[in-house]
Amino acid sequence: MALMITDECINCDVCEPECPNQAIYLGVEIYEIDPSRCTECVGHFEEPQCVQVCPVACIPIHPEHVESRETLWQKYQRLTAQARDDAPAAGG
Ligand code: SF4
Ligand code: SF4
Repeated sequence: MALMITDECINCDVCEPECPNQAIYLGVEIYEIDPSRCTECVGHFEEPQCVQVCPVACIPIHPEHVESRETLWQKYQRLTAQARDDAPAAGG
């Protein structure tokens, strides 16, 4: 499942650097999560890191992006492959 940030967000900036998928960004008013990049931390951590650090507990599951662990794993693999392709080639 992708997670989402509700309007209870106080823009404390704590979650953004914790996301291993760079899925969190500052939106127009509050922080937002890109559902296409959020794997609920599958592939990186046991628990969603943003949820762990959020002081106001405003990061629930996105009702429109309920995904199985398998789907999240596939998303993680796609993102990892993308990052590899985007990275400059190592060596010569
Ligand atoms: S659950 Fe993990 S991947 Fe999703 S936004 Fe939070 S930190 Fe990023
Ligand atoms: S940690 Fe919670 S309150 Fe802070 S910016 Fe992220 S979602 Fe908003």
